[in-house]
Amino acid sequence: MEASLTARDRVGIQDFVLLDAHTSETAFLDNLRKRFHENLIYTYIGTLLVSVNPYRELDMYSKKQMDTYMGVNFFELPPHIYALADNVFRTMLSECNNHFILISGESGAGKTEASKKVLQFYAVSCPSTKVLNNVRDRLVLSNPVLEAFGNAKTLKNDNSSRFGKYMDIQFDHQGGAVGGHILSYLLEKSRVVHQNHGERNFHIFYQLVEGGEEDLLRWLGLERNCQNYNYLVQGNCTKVSSINDKNDWKTVRKALSVIDFSEGDTENLSVCSSSVFQLLGIPAQVLQQGLTHRKIEAKTEEVIYGTTVFSPFSVDHAVYARDALAKAIYGRTFNWLVNRINESLANKDSSRKTVIGLLDIYGFEVFNVNSFEQFCINYCNEKLQQLFIELTLKSEQEEYKLEGIEWEPVPYFNNKIICDLVEAKHKGIISLLDEECLRPGEATDLTFLEKMEEKIGGHPHFVTHKLADQKTRKTLERGDFRLLHYAGEVTYCVVGFLDKNNDLLYRNGKEVMRQSKNTIIRLCFPSTEPDSKRRPETVVTQFKSSLVGLTDILLSKEPWYVRCIKPNEAKQPGEVLIKNRFSIPIPVYNEIKIIICGTLKLFCSCRYKPLCPDTWPNWRGTAAEGVRCLIKYLGYRSDEYKMGRTKIFIRHPKTLFATEDAFQV
Ligand code: ATP
Ligand code: MG
Repeated sequence: MEASLTARDRVGIQDFVLLDAHTSETAFLDNLRKRFHENLIYTYIGTLLVSVNPYRELDMYSKKQMDTYMGVNFFELPPHIYALADNVFRTMLSECNNHFILISGESGAGKTEASKKVLQFYAVSCPSTKVLNNVRDRLVLSNPVLEAFGNAKTLKNDNSSRFGKYMDIQFDHQGGAVGGHILSYLLEKSRVVHQNHGERNFHIFYQLVEGGEEDLLRWLGLERNCQNYNYLVQGNCTKVSSINDKNDWKTVRKALSVIDFSEGDTENLSVCSSSVFQLLGIPAQVLQQGLTHRKIEAKTEEVIYGTTVFSPFSVDHAVYARDALAKAIYGRTFNWLVNRINESLANKDSSRKTVIGLLDIYGFEVFNVNSFEQFCINYCNEKLQQLFIELTLKSEQEEYKLEGIEWEPVPYFNNKIICDLVEAKHKGIISLLDEECLRPGEATDLTFLEKMEEKIGGHPHFVTHKLADQKTRKTLERGDFRLLHYAGEVTYCVVGFLDKNNDLLYRNGKEVMRQSKNTIIRLCFPSTEPDSKRRPETVVTQFKSSLVGLTDILLSKEPWYVRCIKPNEAKQPGEVLIKNRFSIPIPVYNEIKIIICGTLKLFCSCRYKPLCPDTWPNWRGTAAEGVRCLIKYLGYRSDEYKMGRTKIFIRHPKTLFATEDAFQV
């Protein structure tokens, strides 16, 4: 029986568009499963790359493999991340325009790994000179540094990105990588002071304690035992079998030296990251005062205006102030780090460059208890999904309409309704949360919940305890609300939303930091910073604005997509339980998929006309007639193409290649 299986039965189809029954989701998943069993983790849907995390090292990322994929037509070799990277690169060079690769998928699906593979491919395939190699090394080595400070073990992923990252790689006209720039998005700072069971703080802490040189630890007054540090043990899992902290420390140290960090910088950075207050270079007394007292500018009539009074905190308050300060130190140091890396990647030459942007953010996540952080992360994923829909499904179907092509509308879920629920002015969850944050002393997490119930209770994607019975069968705890995200339901516990969104840092804490002997700390708490008299923007509002900025950056570039899929929840190789749980919207075009090889005019008059005696050397009819004549001569079958008003749509990539190849002969 086994022997009679055709190769296609066994290994599936490498481009989903070519599957006969390509409209069905079941067929799509079956195809992925078949391929996954054969260690074929990549599959195309047209030019979109689907990648299933193998959870094991596969022998497919060697220099030899890179060479194989360099300069070869996209569909001619088995699907690979290198094929996509190469295609983006060559399109950028030939069209002299900017591109980005959006890598998406739930937490642990393989986004960060995919983005590293793309970067490594460019590092190897781009032209090399001494100067360019220097840039290349910095680009590649920025990764372990940012991962050390910005990634952590979560229940979903041992190396989970806890910040969003967008990296531009800048190329000159010959395709040499000449520089780069990184934008980071909302680091999950709360992890510095609290980790859920089974999770860790950011990797750098464990790397420092496990791998830090004796002298360094002595200088920092640290002991080589994570158990001694309350901030590192709350998840009760300081050691992770898939992680070698000691080796990773060495890698990070080496990387830091390549990206221009001096020994002093590195040590100061260790101090910041250790968040141990004795190390901050601040007199103990001042620090103690800063952590246990609130500074109040007296403004009442009885006392002279401007008098400063110190009011003692309660213990809870002091713990809160300490944690707030630790989070601020870490968050600001992380931003400083990104800025320093950017300085090191900056291209000093002002000549025109083109860029390829790589977007690797934290993936959609659902835990047993989900809080403000998951709300922000999942909101970000909704936004990217919306961008994906806008850029592909919607625009493509609109294009068919414009071109007068007959097609059956493909039903897809447009998640705009959820984005609006979260971010609409006045009535969206973010607005309601911000409103509550403006009522200190009166508002609580529960009044926020009540406000949501009142204002958006009727929304089909929002459920609370009160509304649970009507909308879903599952009940909810009193302090919870549930959002029906595009990728699945998530129940959020409202506790802590106001606090985390306010992210208040007492003024006194800031002032104390300004007295630090540590240069990085002083830079992170500049005295020019506006004081807290004016309310700073809330965390989620800042995040929302930065996502608008990101969308603008992306919309000015040509999009490419990598969709990463997690095969199972156990983080194990071999097991394939792929469900389309996170509803990867498969662009299931009923009619035609492979898009446009150019306008009719281009197709006929310039590029392909030498292929047909009737159109060569000059064609005097209309472009459309010319194209008809050409495709008749080339023998296209009627189901292989569709003629639009200005464009020709070709379904089968091989058909196009046949034409291209004939052209090149
Ligand atoms: P998050 O949203 O949590 O940041 P992610 O999508 O970035 O998740 P990765 O960190 O890229 O997920 O992948 C998780 C783990 O899966 C990796 O640490 C690695 O062990 C494994 N993995 C992912 N992709 C591959 C691959 N192509 N080959 C081998 N292992 C992989
Ligand atoms: Mg990641």
